[in-house]
Amino acid sequence: MQRSVAVVGAGAAGAAAAYALREHPADVTVFEKSGGVCGRAATRRRNGCVYEYGANYLTADDDRVAELVTAELPSEGLTEIDEPVWTFDADREIREGRDEQTTRWTYEQGITQLAKRLFAAGDATVHRHTRVESLERSGAGWRVTDAEGGTYDSFDAVLLTPPGPQTADLLGQSEWEHADRRRLRQAAASVPYRTVVAGLLHYEFELDRPYYGLVSEAGDHDVGWIGREECKAGHVPDGETLLVVQMAPDWSVTHYRDDAATLTDAIADATATLLDDDRLAEPDWTDHQHWRYALPDDGVGADALETAAAHDLFLAGDWVAGEARLHAALRNGLRTGERIGEHL
Ligand SMILES: Cc1cc2nc3c(=O)[nH]c(=O)nc-3n(C[C@H](O)[C@H](O)[C@H](O)COP(=O)(O)OP(=O)(O)OC[C@H]3O[C@@H](n4cnc5c(N)ncnc54)[C@H](O)[C@@H]3O)c2cc1C
Repeated sequence: MQRSVAVVGAGAAGAAAAYALREHPADVTVFEKSGGVCGRAATRRRNGCVYEYGANYLTADDDRVAELVTAELPSEGLTEIDEPVWTFDADREIREGRDEQTTRWTYEQGITQLAKRLFAAGDATVHRHTRVESLERSGAGWRVTDAEGGTYDSFDAVLLTPPGPQTADLLGQSEWEHADRRRLRQAAASVPYRTVVAGLLHYEFELDRPYYGLVSEAGDHDVGWIGREECKAGHVPDGETLLVVQMAPDWSVTHYRDDAATLTDAIADATATLLDDDRLAEPDWTDHQHWRYALPDDGVGADALETAAAHDLFLAGDWVAGEARLHAALRNGLRTGERIGEHL
């Protein structure tokens, strides 16, 4: 018998779950509040450049995800970043390498290809620009209501993939009178997150460095990460430089409400100082992004997931896996999709 599943969020976890459900007799409907897919693994295009302003790459740290990306999904445009990641410390001393250099992938067309290809492989219906406002549980199943008051009936199972605090808000607004709602809401709300403000700095000249990325060794610098987008095939025209600078969580919280010019000026100054190159204080164009719920620092317990499943409710994402990485979100989404398929 054909069953129906609602997936809230078209990020890596939601897309992977929809993909895993393609082999089950289930109609999958995905609701995504933004205009694009892939959530915090996000790509923009500007002035001939393609750049990642959330997750910079996918690592090959999970065998199942590596197989998915290299063997199951189309691999056209899948590209490996060859240059290494180096580190810097509080005194701005730059050092060669972390020991464990891993494979880092993205797509020439941008990392959002991950979710696009996952959805293309299945037949889920994806509603973009549709923010789910609340859920309602009745005898017939789950009803989903969006921010415009639109309702969608009725689903045999619901999968929630927004970051923990947003999932908690959604559960708080839902009409589902059960003691477990409170427990689940608390479990989702209590996942701690780091906030990251990212600045994109473009230059009309080449930067000659031996590394792709620089990461703060102990997290004790205002800058957390610098990535050279030109190291990704197809992202930046020859002779140009595009730096992705992620500021450290403390700095990001302090400067969260700064206006755009103040923010990007400060990020460019910090970058010029760290890389000891005055030219970098004057990018010819900039972009920025605030990620309030950027990186979860913990996960949710198995008992919360069991409790939810008893109500045909499922949770997935990096915060459920307890690891703030794209491969973890994908893997968790695949597993949860398979689990929902067995549950139906
Ligand atoms: C700045 C930054 C840099 C990072 N760098 C890396 C990296 O280099 N490598 C790496 O492996 N990982 C990195 N990560 C982590 C990685 O991006 C995440 O682990 C992964 O993308 C999480 O996927 P997800 O599906 O769990 O969540 P999300 O991507 O957050 O997906 C949730 C989706 O739900 C949608 N949504 C939320 N609320 C609603 C609602 N009410 N209704 C409908 N839709 C809703 C959101 O719009 C979003 O699309 C980075 C993250 C950030 C922020």
